[in-house]
Amino acid sequence: MNIRKFFNSFSSREECNHPTLKIEADFSADPIWCNVCGENLDIDDFTLSDELKDELFNWIRDYKKIPMDLHNKVGKELTEKVKAEIGKDYPSITFIQQ
Ligand SMILES: [Zn+2]
Repeated sequence: MNIRKFFNSFSSREECNHPTLKIEADFSADPIWCNVCGENLDIDDFTLSDELKDELFNWIRDYKKIPMDLHNKVGKELTEKVKAEIGKDYPSITFIQQ
């Protein structure tokens, strides 16, 4: 559990079932967030392939180390891969450009 998630668990007053997702890079955070309550979600709660998880974490690791247009290009591609794997359960997955 990361620190942001720890505090979110106290600050969210209403239960959110995280119906829509966004993909956004941030330092030391998982790449999947709830688009409603803004909580940083645990990537292991999703049925993503290990290959895709590795790609997502490599993308986070390279955040601010690679040019932003490249970051956004890879992020968009990864978002499409996430949609292909869990889009059935989450019809709305949005990529947040930097
Ligand atoms: Zn939520």
